[in-house]
Amino acid sequence: MTGLSRQEPSDPATILVVEDDAGLRRTLAATLKAAGHKVVEAASGAEGLRWQAHHAPDLVLLDLGLPDRDGMDLITGIRARAATPIIVLTARDSEPAKVQALDLGADDYVTKPFSVPELLARIRAALRHGVQARGSLPVVTSGPLRIDLGARRVLRDGEIVRLSPKEYDLLAELAVRQGAPVRHGELLQAVWGSERADLHYLRVYIGQLRVKLEADPATPVLILAEPGVGYRLA
Ligand code: CA
Repeated sequence: MTGLSRQEPSDPATILVVEDDAGLRRTLAATLKAAGHKVVEAASGAEGLRWQAHHAPDLVLLDLGLPDRDGMDLITGIRARAATPIIVLTARDSEPAKVQALDLGADDYVTKPFSVPELLARIRAALRHGVQARGSLPVVTSGPLRIDLGARRVLRDGEIVRLSPKEYDLLAELAVRQGAPVRHGELLQAVWGSERADLHYLRVYIGQLRVKLEADPATPVLILAEPGVGYRLA
């Protein structure tokens, strides 16, 4: 027992490290673990988005030069669905890249090579801001549903609905679009980390969500199919 409240940034945080350079990734992981944090490692952008959805980390350390996609896309992707602080790791010692990263929603950047004490200090600062930002994520309502994106909590007529992490991620993805249709591929990418994941998964999980959320799952009025496009929240 540490006696610290859960809001203290000095609590062990879960940090997602998205870095394709295996040597640097291991060094970062070891450094962060030595500082008392939990670490989730991702070697590509797709893996990064997948672990972001799966582990809901407290902070993301993001390399901009990734093999499968530009790290800038990941900033946008993460920021669309979570207030998680993002610190960009960049070898690009150029002002425009840093400005672009910050404009897209990154909280800070560290230029490689960096000093460990400086990186840890920036992580502490970003975690402090993250605790404040989480309270400001929106609550989306649809009919009897209240989807609290900050607390990752769903209420139906005031009662908590128990959803699996994937069910929640799928619903949250629809919720952040506030009623606009979300393409099948975007949902697969966001929840399963690949646009090539089987559409069948999506149908199964949409079915499960309807059973838990709709008054009559056979005639849904909350989670609506857009034929040939995707789904949207009413
Ligand atoms: Ca890289």
